[in-house]
Amino acid sequence: MADPLVIVHVYPDLLGTYGDRGNVLALAYRAGLRGVATEIVDVMADQPLPASGDLFVIGGGEDATQLLAARAMLADDRAASIFGGSAPVFAVCAGLQLLSRTFLGFEGRPETGLGLLDATCDRLAERAVGEIVLEPVELPGVPTLTGFENHRGTAEVGPSARPLGTLVAGVGNGDGRTEGVQQDNIVATYLHGPVLVRNPVLADTLLERVTGPLAVVPRDVTEQLREERLDAADPRRRPEGRRSRLRR
Ligand code: GLN
Repeated sequence: MADPLVIVHVYPDLLGTYGDRGNVLALAYRAGLRGVATEIVDVMADQPLPASGDLFVIGGGEDATQLLAARAMLADDRAASIFGGSAPVFAVCAGLQLLSRTFLGFEGRPETGLGLLDATCDRLAERAVGEIVLEPVELPGVPTLTGFENHRGTAEVGPSARPLGTLVAGVGNGDGRTEGVQQDNIVATYLHGPVLVRNPVLADTLLERVTGPLAVVPRDVTEQLREERLDAADPRRRPEGRRSRLRR
């Protein structure tokens, strides 16, 4: 039997707001639909990161716990080579900031991130809270992304990185245009939801970076969730648009 695909959940004792663990479960579930066995490894903040993970998932966190996570990550001398290595890394919110060059931490104090993403994170004038919609950038086959955001941080994406998506609704990186950061094997976003439950094709894309092409599976109940959330938040689906679609 093939070795299971190892999904490493990074610091679940500190990071994981709004059910971000659901991202780990979504990856395992979507792999399972294709008969790919997975093993979920929780690595706590006082444990060293394992170099042997196939896919790493980092969740969001409040400012104080995010700072503890930053300390743990910076103290782990293998963190940069593991997250900058060949295994895909999926990072949400605080996770995005921790992998960036700098972020503003507890009480707005500047903090150093791992610097694997060419991005710097500043502060929004007001916390961004609500539904968010984006069109993915350079992710063939991935449809409109839907999520929930609750963050104070921004992200200014430098020339070595690219955004995850262009903004349709919501605040995202805070520049009015973009959301998230992608660079090398890292996909980072401000979206909760959990975002990989709301956007299963994004989960598949991350898995395929490890497994190669996966069989297409029938749309499941999460499609209904996607539709509901997009109906609620995507301005392109506002009543005028819907009426004209119905008339056809
Ligand atoms: N503490 C960070 C911020 O407010 C990240 C928040 C989060 O992970 N939800 O920007």
